[in-house]
Amino acid sequence: MDIFLKVQRYGRTLNYFTQTAIFHLFDLLLHFMKTKTLKKDKVNVITLGCSKNLVDSENLITQLKGNDFEVVHDSNEEDPNIIIVNTCGFIDLAKEESINTILQYAKVKQEGNIDKLYVTGCLSQRYKDDLEENIPEVDAFFGTLELPGLLATLNADYKHELIGERTITTPMHYAYVKISEGCNRTCSFCAIPLMRGGHVSRPIEELVLEAQTLAKRGVKELLLIAQELTYYGLDIYKERKLAQLLDALADVEGIEWIRLHYAYPSKFPEEIFEVMARRKEICNYLDIPLQHASDNVLTAMRRQITRAETEALIEKAREMVPGIAIRTTMLVGFPGETEADFEELCEFIQEMQFERLGVFQYSHEEDTRAYEMEDDVPAEVKADRANKVMEIQQEISFQKNQEKIGKTFRILVDRKEGGYFVGRTESDSPEVDNEVLVDAKKFYLRIGDFAEVRIIDAMDYDLFGELVAAD
Ligand code: SF4
Repeated sequence: MDIFLKVQRYGRTLNYFTQTAIFHLFDLLLHFMKTKTLKKDKVNVITLGCSKNLVDSENLITQLKGNDFEVVHDSNEEDPNIIIVNTCGFIDLAKEESINTILQYAKVKQEGNIDKLYVTGCLSQRYKDDLEENIPEVDAFFGTLELPGLLATLNADYKHELIGERTITTPMHYAYVKISEGCNRTCSFCAIPLMRGGHVSRPIEELVLEAQTLAKRGVKELLLIAQELTYYGLDIYKERKLAQLLDALADVEGIEWIRLHYAYPSKFPEEIFEVMARRKEICNYLDIPLQHASDNVLTAMRRQITRAETEALIEKAREMVPGIAIRTTMLVGFPGETEADFEELCEFIQEMQFERLGVFQYSHEEDTRAYEMEDDVPAEVKADRANKVMEIQQEISFQKNQEKIGKTFRILVDRKEGGYFVGRTESDSPEVDNEVLVDAKKFYLRIGDFAEVRIIDAMDYDLFGELVAAD
């Protein structure tokens, strides 16, 4: 019988104050019994992995706040009594970091300093059974698409009206916008479709609404992300709609920069270059992971494109969008990658002169198609090849940065650090690309604002500038 009903019957003879006292007493008792740490419910959401995971955490935080939870993100504070770890399960290194983070909080729970520990995200989606068996301190594991279930476990409701009302954890002037979930591609090395499922685009109207909401809150730069950006629309509109989406987002008042991440090279919708050239709001910037350049390796990776087709696409981009900054990612050490394949990759990087480039070492991921192959490139050779690629890119980046000295660029100011205001040009995405440093002793710039800066010096990945004019 409901505890409160019992009091009513008993209390008929009790006066109001005694009843109230009893209620408060019960309340206190209940609170005492509920949280052995005596802490007020406060959630700390820990995000690991990529920007897509960050958006998932932001949606989770928004829903929790919508249910009156006090929530912090990636906090070192000691007073949260509920921890939610949003994990990454992409490759070995990422999995290791996720497991170590879970174990770290499992220990904190064993010591009685937190009450509840929940785990969600890609690692949890992929290895739920193993994790449940091996880390019993975790109260529950959730998959990548189980936000409502996680909320229900916390006695919170999933509030549809909050879709698009996202708490952002990045600096207020830029935000990631995930335009779709999942991926229909079959790259043989990749476990992402196993963790994120098939491709699901979000409707243009919903994305425009989210952009408008973000703009009203001061966001000026949108970073469009997905597992595979260029596939956008093929599911819900039966045709590629990224170009239309870009035009619609560029019309949103207050949004000044829109940046494209995670494009796929095969069957690339070139109408995007036309929109990029036509709309000043679309940054002349394209992140397009190419992974390799040897046709043998590209075929084994199931990338559905050849070296020649890749070169033609890059040339087309540079022709249609003069000054475009191309960021790419390479993967070295794939099963069967010969010294000749690797030399071809290095020669390709030298020839194509990408503005921005990163590299991953192949990770032998179970349940992927490449897992059937022998992981025959030794770890030290993988590491050597990754270092060699970055040495080549460091020199390319240095030369390209030298050419910027004396020129003036519009930058978005991200933060102040170590005596400098730090910003980015249109050719630089947060956290992964070059930065522009302006001496804070000589110039004042407002964080979150644009400014015109003349480059006075340059290094491999950093530029030094002086203020010409603030926006
Ligand atoms: S397109 Fe990207 S996310 Fe999709 S399978 Fe290929 S590498 Fe994985």
